[in-house]
Order: sequence, then structure tokens, then C-alpha cells
Amino acid sequence: MARMKRQQLHDQEVLQPKIRLGDLAAEGINVFCWCNRCGHNAVVDTAMLAARLGPSMPVPEVGAAMRCTGCGSQDVATRPDWPSLGQVTRHGGEEAAAETAAETADDGGAASGGSGEAAGQANRSAGAGVA
Ligand SMILES: [Zn+2]
Repeated sequence: MARMKRQQLHDQEVLQPKIRLGDLAAEGINVFCWCNRCGHNAVVDTAMLAARLGPSMPVPEVGAAMRCTGCGSQDVATRPDWPSLGQVTRHGGEEAAAETAAETADDGGAASGGSGEAAGQANRSAGAGVA
């Protein structure tokens, strides 16, 4: 059932307000990078990225400036590497709210009950690390 949540997770990320590198650096959160071509993923130090790209660079756009160390592709997605949705409840609440908005937009409000599952999937993805 987790596979069916993938598109939903994507919508959730699109609808999130743009978080900038400076915002993450201030919170001590690194950037999770995912290669769309080979699936290679890694967590990159935010301070290093901010120094190279500038603290005002929105996190979702950082991927355009990165290259996969696995296959060399520049088709890299980036997002904040939240340490844990369970510990940082403030962030968990924000993500749940964003996902609810995504479901409403996609299904006209017909979908329900998926919030907990998707949040759990996001949590597992963030904690997966390098395979
Ligand atoms: Zn790759």
C-alpha cells in the first residue's frame, strides 16, 4: 500500500512553502538528496550548501545545482532531512496539514484517512539513509 502513496507524497512536497537553506541551517537540519535516475540518496550538510549556493536558495531548487555521485545525473531532488516526525512535532503538524490540502485538491475532498500512513512513509524515507 505504500506505493500508492508515492504520488501523494510528491504533491505534499510541491505544496510545501519554500524553505530556504538559511532556514534549515538555523535549525541545524541537513538536506536530503535523491537521484531520480538511479535512486542514490544522501544527506548533505546544509551549512556547506548555504556557503556555496547562498542561504536564500530554496531547498527544492538546490537539486538543480547538484549532481548524483552515483550515476552523474543532475536529475536530483532535494528536501529538508527532518530528523524525526515524532520528535519534531511542530514539523509533523505542518506536513500533515499540507497533505490534507493535497488530497482535497486531487480528489475534491473524497479521500480520507491517509494522513497517518503518508506521514509514516515520509518518516521512513527520511531515515533510510544510504542504501
Ligand atoms: Zn544517480
